[in-house]
Amino acid sequence: MAGKLIIFSAPSGAGKSTIVHYLLKKFDNLEFSVSATSRKPRGTEQAGTDYYFLTPDEFRKRIENKEFIEYEEVYQDLYYGTLRSEIDRIAAKGNNIIFDVDVKGGLNIKKQFGDKALAIFIAPPSVNELSRRLNHRGTDSEEMIRQRVGKAKYELSFAPQFDVTVVNDVLETAQAEAEKLISEFLAG
Ligand code: ADP
Ligand code: 5GP
Repeated sequence: MAGKLIIFSAPSGAGKSTIVHYLLKKFDNLEFSVSATSRKPRGTEQAGTDYYFLTPDEFRKRIENKEFIEYEEVYQDLYYGTLRSEIDRIAAKGNNIIFDVDVKGGLNIKKQFGDKALAIFIAPPSVNELSRRLNHRGTDSEEMIRQRVGKAKYELSFAPQFDVTVVNDVLETAQAEAEKLISEFLAG
């Protein structure tokens, strides 16, 4: 396999998508691993760009066919997973791969790829700020926000298992920090 893997995990609302989008613009040979999910599209999300949106039945079939390198039920009845075909597609082009996955999926990928992967945990300054950001983003129902914030403390407990943690307090600082980490990792 040609490329290196860069994994971003964080509690929902910590700012990982914002940081990942910034990095994709900064590095030419970096490509986003489009995950599959059984949740419905949100806001301006595009099928095939942000996610492969599958029905729960389609998702189950792909599990049975062993098409995922990892998948998780991140929230109740909502499945997310990384397709082996996605990694093969990007690696075939000789690109490096960037992942936005939950904490368990992130550690799972790290375990499979070892030193070829850098696992970065994005931490919010506080759980209150996380909640404020999710409310401000305005893309989730109150119940969904409650579930996401409710899971955040548990997810934060996974941080020490990652290679490095970046605290996303001031966005520009966190972006610069992530950019430096990736430059060094890709050069190494
Ligand atoms: P995630 O992908 O981790 O769920 P997002 O990238 O969607 O998080 O960010 C959640 C919300 O917080 C978005 O509305 C985003 O614009 C905002 N945001 C991201 N980083 C910061 C920051 N450092 N300070 C304030 N708001 C932020
Ligand atoms: P969202 O619904 O906000 O897009 O994503 C919810 C959570 O699912 C986030 O923590 C996100 O990183 C995670 N996620 C997205 N894709 C995958 C995937 O392929 N595998 C796993 N394990 N988690 C994913």
